[in-house]
Amino acid sequence: MPDSIPHHSPRILRVALPTPLRRLFDYRPLREPPACGWQPGLRVRVPFGRRQMVGVVVECIDSSDLPPDRLKPVEACLDATPLPEDWLWLCRFTARYYQHSLGDTLHQALPVLLRQGRPLAGRMRERWQALPPSAEAEARLARAPRQAELLAMLRQHHHGLPTQAVLAQSFSREQLLALVDKGLVERLLDPLTAAETGAGRLLAEPALPLNREQAQALATVHERLEAFHPCLLHGVTGSGKTEVYLQLIEAVVARDRQALLLVPEIGLTPQTLARFRQRFRVPVVALHSGLTDHERLDAWEAAASGRAPIIIGTRSAIFTPLARPGVIIVDEEHDGSFKQQEGLRYHARDLAVTRAKHHAIPLLLGSATPSLESLYHAERGNYRHLRLTRRASRHAPARLELIDLRGRPRQGGLIPPAIEAIRETLAAGHQVLIFINRRGFAPTLACHACGWLADCDHCDARMTLHRQPPMLACHHCDKRRPVPDACPSCGSADLRPLGSGTERTEETLAALFPKVPVHRIDRDSTRRRDAFEHMLGQVRRGEPCLLVGTQMLAKGHHLPHVTLVVVVNADGGLYASDFRALEHSAQLLIQVAGRAGRASHPGRVLVQTLHTDDPHLRMLAQQGYDTLAEQLLAERRAAALPPYRFLALLRLESPKEEAASALGGEAAAMLRHWVAAHAPDVSCLGPVPAPMERRQNRYHLQLMLSSARRSQLHAACAQLTAWLEASPEARRVRWSLDVDPQTLA
Ligand code: ADP
Ligand code: ZN
Ligand code: ZN
Repeated sequence: MPDSIPHHSPRILRVALPTPLRRLFDYRPLREPPACGWQPGLRVRVPFGRRQMVGVVVECIDSSDLPPDRLKPVEACLDATPLPEDWLWLCRFTARYYQHSLGDTLHQALPVLLRQGRPLAGRMRERWQALPPSAEAEARLARAPRQAELLAMLRQHHHGLPTQAVLAQSFSREQLLALVDKGLVERLLDPLTAAETGAGRLLAEPALPLNREQAQALATVHERLEAFHPCLLHGVTGSGKTEVYLQLIEAVVARDRQALLLVPEIGLTPQTLARFRQRFRVPVVALHSGLTDHERLDAWEAAASGRAPIIIGTRSAIFTPLARPGVIIVDEEHDGSFKQQEGLRYHARDLAVTRAKHHAIPLLLGSATPSLESLYHAERGNYRHLRLTRRASRHAPARLELIDLRGRPRQGGLIPPAIEAIRETLAAGHQVLIFINRRGFAPTLACHACGWLADCDHCDARMTLHRQPPMLACHHCDKRRPVPDACPSCGSADLRPLGSGTERTEETLAALFPKVPVHRIDRDSTRRRDAFEHMLGQVRRGEPCLLVGTQMLAKGHHLPHVTLVVVVNADGGLYASDFRALEHSAQLLIQVAGRAGRASHPGRVLVQTLHTDDPHLRMLAQQGYDTLAEQLLAERRAAALPPYRFLALLRLESPKEEAASALGGEAAAMLRHWVAAHAPDVSCLGPVPAPMERRQNRYHLQLMLSSARRSQLHAACAQLTAWLEASPEARRVRWSLDVDPQTLA
C-alpha cells in the first residue's frame, strides 16, 4: 500500500505512465524534493524510451527490483502540491475494478492540459478598482487629464472593472498602471471560472412548491445528508424529477457543499443548463464536449478548489475532483452513454455509487425507466425506492397503441392508419414526432432481378443507402462507396431501396404534407450543434410540423406541442440476440412515448410492429415499463444473467482468424485450469465468434466469464489480463476486457 505521508527522501518513486501496460515504473527522485515532500499524486516528467512522458507518482518506496543506480532520474516535478486525493482514489479504484492500466486511467481522467504537464491553475481575470480618495495623490493627476477621467470612471463601479471593459473605453493599460503606481487604483485577480458570487441569496428564482410525492422524495434524501444514502428516484416522464434535483442541490449548496450532476450525452443541452442557471445565483459549471482545453482546465480547477458549487457534466465528469462533495445525482441513470465502450470501459453510474460511498454522501439515481440493476438494488433494499407516479401537467403519459404492420402497404415505412392519425393531428394544429431508429435513406439497396444486396466488403453487414449526399455507407466501419447504376452481380438496372430510414420517411412526409415543415433530426442532419438548437427553437414556437428523428430526438427534450408520436418499427430489440436488447428497447419506447402530451393536450403513441402478439411488447403496452421490468428480472434470474450474476467479456480481434482463435483457445484453457483451483464459482464460456464476426476486415471472438461472486470474477480477470500481457501471441491480436459489459456485441 502506498503511504500518503510526505516522504522527503524516498529512494524510489513508482510512477504511473500513460501506457496500456498494467504496471508502474520506477524512477529515482530529484535531489531536491518538492516543498511538500514526495507524495502520491504529484505529476512528474520522466524519460521513457527516447521520449518524455508526464506521469503521476503513485508510491514512494525504498526498494526496487532494480538497483537504484540503474534507475533513471525524474526530470522534473510539475506540481507544488499533489493532485486531489479523491480523484486519485477514484482512479485507483477504477483501474483495479476495470482491470485497466492505472497510468492510462489517470491520463484519461485528467483534462488535456494537465496531461501535457501544465500547472493546475485556473486562468485569472484582471480587475481594476479605485482606492479610497486621497487629496495628495489626486493632486498629482493635475497634468494627466486622461488618467483623471479613467479614475472617475472606475469610481463609478464599486466592484471595479475588468481590463477589457477599460480598454473598450479607449483607455490604455499604461494609464491603468500609472494609477496603480500613484496609489489610486488597485489591480485584482479573479478566477475566470465560477467566481464567488459573495454572500447572499442562493436562488435567483423561487423554487416550485413540491407536490406530495416530490416532497416525500426530497425529505427522504434529506434525512441523511451526512452518510452514504443511495436512492432511486423512479418517476414517470414529466413527473418533476428535475425539480427534486434542483431542490436537493439547493439544500446541499446551502450547507456549503458541492453537487455533481451527471446527465446523458444527449441530455446536456443548452435548455437543461439554462434551467439550472436560471434557478441559482451561484455559478453552474458545465463540462461538455464543446469546451476548449482551457475552459475544461478552469472548470476542473474550480471544482477541485471548491469554488464551483454545482458541476454538471456527461460521463467523464464523474472524474471531476470535489473539495467538499455533498451529493452525486445521475439523471436518466439507465442511459447507455454512461458506459464508455472503448479503452477504459467504465460505467459512470456505477462509479458514482462507489464514489458516493467513499465520500459518505447521498446518491440519487433518477429515471422513468430504471435499469434492471438499479431496480434490483431498490427491491432488495440496497437503495431507497422513491416513486413519482404523477405528472405535473394534467395528462398521464400516453399508453402505447400497437398497430399491425403485416400485409399493409407502407409509404416511407408508415401504414395508412398512422398516416391518417398524422393528418388529423396536423389538422388540429399540433405537432407530430415520427421515431425511426435508422438514419440514411434505406437500410440497404437490393437488386430485384437477382436478389443481390449491398454488403460491406469489410463487415458482416449491409451498407446503408444515403441520398443526402448519395452514397452507400457502412455504419459499422464507415466505409463509403458510390451508389451503383446497375447491379454489380447481374447487371440489371432494377435496383431498389429496401426498407426505410429517416431520409426516406422525411421525403415521403414532405410529399404527403407539402404545406407542413418537416424537420429531420439524426446524426447526419445535426452535425452542427447550433443547427439542432435552432431547429428546436422553431419547434418550440408551436406551429404544426413534423419531426422525423432517431433517438437523438427521443431523449430529454421537452417538446410541448407534440401530441402524437409514431414509432415506425418497434421490432428491432424484440428478437435481438443481446440479453439487454429488450430492456433497452423498452426504455427507448417509453422515452419516445414520453415526448407526447407534455403540455396542455393529451398525447397518443402509435407503435408499428410485425409482432402485435409478442408477449413482452404487449406487456409493455398494456401494463407499462415497471411490470415488464419485473418480468425481465425474473427471466434474468432464471437465465443466471446480470444482475443475478456478474459478467466480464474478453474481446479478441485480428485480421487473421486463426491468430485470434488460437489465442482465445489458449486463454480459455489456461483460465479453466486456473479457476478450477482458485475461483471455482467462475464459469468460462467460449471462445465463440462475436455476433458480428467480421468487422472492419477483422475477426472478432469473445470469451465470457461469469460468476455470482464479484471477488472470484475479479481474481479470474486479473489472472487473465496478466497472462495475456505476458503471452507473446497476444502481441499479434488486439484484445480488451470489458467488466460488466453492457452489450455482448
Ligand atoms: P422530469 O425530470 O421528471 O421529466 P421535469 O422536472 O422536467 O420532469 O418536470 C416536468 C414539468 O413539470 C416541467 O415543466 C416542470 O417545470 C413542471 N413541474 C415539476 N415539478 C412541479 C411542481 N411541483 N409544480 C408545478 N410544476 C412542476
Ligand atoms: Zn442483380
Ligand atoms: Zn463495414
